[in-house]
Amino acid sequence: MTASADGPASRLLPDPRVLTWDQSAGRACIWCKKALTTGTVSVGFIRDRLGAHNLDTEVWAGPCCLGEET
Ligand SMILES: [Zn+2]
Repeated sequence: MTASADGPASRLLPDPRVLTWDQSAGRACIWCKKALTTGTVSVGFIRDRLGAHNLDTEVWAGPCCLGEET
């Protein structure tokens, strides 16, 4: 498993193969799958490679998982 913990929330990112389409597209929280609206923060890239193809995916999280819920 390749994961980057760089970002405001130093949590492990999930394996790229388990992401939903919405998560890969930056439309859903990378950890809880909630639809992202406001307060969205890039939490890094999931590094992946399939043969010659670079499949790095930028992933996003919302206030739901950043400890900033009010
Ligand atoms: Zn979340």
